[in-house]
Amino acid sequence: MSIETSIGLETSQPYPYRRVELVEPDWRRFPGWADVTEDEWRSAQWQRSHCVKNVKQLRELLGDLVDERFYADLERDQAERATMSMLVPPQMMNTMVPTAPIGGSGSLTDALYADPVRVYMLPVFSDRRTDWPSHPHATRDSLHEHDMWVAEGLTHRYPTKVLAELLPTCPQYCGHCTRMDLVGNSTPQVDKLKFVGKPDTRLESMLDYLRTTPQVRDVVVSGGDVANMPIARLEAFLMALLEIENIRDIRLATKALMGLPQHWLQDDVKAGVERVAKVARARGVSLAIHTHVNHANSVTPLVAEAAKAMLEVGVRDVRNQGVILNGVNADPHALLDLCFTLLDGAQIMPYYFYMCDMIPFAEHWRISVADAQRLQHHIMGYLPGFATPRIVCDVPFVGKRWVHQLADYDQEKGISFWTKNYRTSIEAEDTDALKRMYQYYDPIHTLPVEGQSWWAHHADLDESALKAAEIAEASRRTAALQAY
Ligand code: SF4
Repeated sequence: MSIETSIGLETSQPYPYRRVELVEPDWRRFPGWADVTEDEWRSAQWQRSHCVKNVKQLRELLGDLVDERFYADLERDQAERATMSMLVPPQMMNTMVPTAPIGGSGSLTDALYADPVRVYMLPVFSDRRTDWPSHPHATRDSLHEHDMWVAEGLTHRYPTKVLAELLPTCPQYCGHCTRMDLVGNSTPQVDKLKFVGKPDTRLESMLDYLRTTPQVRDVVVSGGDVANMPIARLEAFLMALLEIENIRDIRLATKALMGLPQHWLQDDVKAGVERVAKVARARGVSLAIHTHVNHANSVTPLVAEAAKAMLEVGVRDVRNQGVILNGVNADPHALLDLCFTLLDGAQIMPYYFYMCDMIPFAEHWRISVADAQRLQHHIMGYLPGFATPRIVCDVPFVGKRWVHQLADYDQEKGISFWTKNYRTSIEAEDTDALKRMYQYYDPIHTLPVEGQSWWAHHADLDESALKAAEIAEASRRTAALQAY
């Protein structure tokens, strides 16, 4: 090795920043879209009516560029593992294998298997773990959002903020969706919960609660995805929210800003958001959009155009809340690439990265808290402070915690212990809520052999015995913490 090369290596940064130009991959490379025009591509209606919803439609799109074994793998996953039904808008499909050379039969197979957007939007059976496909503590509503409903679909978990699930659908369904209990169509594995109230009555009940609960100042207006609510109805709800004096922050949750940017570029949608933003500004309320982008490849010129359009009509900020997923973005370079692409290319503020929640069949995506801490360390210092995302663990019955905030950590068994400083809406009478330790669990396959053996033994116990063993351990740690 020459001296110059060795100096270069020693002085180079672990992450080499470089500005990347956004590219809209050419959708005509896929046989099924060979004749699709620019106008069709920019049409939200065309996008919605050409989503990939099943293996047959994927086969019509990609044909024999992908081997039969991939289609069979996908089909098996849909039947035996998937917690979300398939729904991929063309915009998202087009960000898969964006630069893979297209040759003859089967030429896209390996690239598609390895593609980060495919890994979470079109999970296949062979992606999933066979040793521990689900953690023993995985649950459908892992954050207990329904337990904390104060009106149907309105979760009051934190003291000053609420989550309003306006509707249970999205323009795209992510394989790892934390609201898999409620959102989307039922799958062979998951019979989805259904709202029972009529939509208008539900929304009115939410508004009634907010009118009579002055300590709530911040509403995450979500779903599902608000892009699936007709803009006139969304506008009416937001205007009603803005009439409530105590509401000072409104955040619209929409992955569609990335998955279906065409929606937010429609004239009637922009006009509706502009009217809401004008009233919000006049009343000193912050109106922001929170989107969900997990990989830099998803940030295309159309996504940047949609974000710009929202900022131009008066939305104060567009922020990103991604999810850390193995095979997608669980390394520092992928996270930094994503953050810089969002920030430089699309004026979208990197804000949070969540650890993937403990839902069924998610173990192949999840990482340990220790790995999340390492990721947080590695991404520090490159981005401006205000745009350096926090990696957070959403601890059941606690809420979001920065990954370095844990109180204790048994790395052998992969159990982290967390405390909290407020009561959720179901703990008003619980005098021990603020003294207790709350657990989060690392994926078992990431543990040392001793830890894996412990789980192999304890997973055989019935649920109450397992719980008793853990409660004993949590009590011991709580006592130790209090003594300290
Ligand atoms: S967009 Fe959000 S709510 Fe909809 S499926 Fe994806 S993660 Fe779930």
